[in-house]
Amino acid sequence: MAWPKYAASYEDKKHLLVQYLCKRKCNAQRYGLVSKQPWVPAGADEDRSLFVTCLKCGGQQFDSYNWVRL
Ligand SMILES: [Zn+2]
Repeated sequence: MAWPKYAASYEDKKHLLVQYLCKRKCNAQRYGLVSKQPWVPAGADEDRSLFVTCLKCGGQQFDSYNWVRL
């Protein structure tokens, strides 16, 4: 898919992003910024310092087991 406009400032920083289903305002597949690097998938309640911030709506969530690296 074409690089989305809302993520334009991260096009050269893909390694910081994941694709995932934003369940906040978007309820759609989005690119999001991971809170820390490097990271490994964790259960939603296992590592509260690991979350993704949606580049479209700014919503945050912790379901790292569903994130796909770009
Ligand atoms: Zn969103």
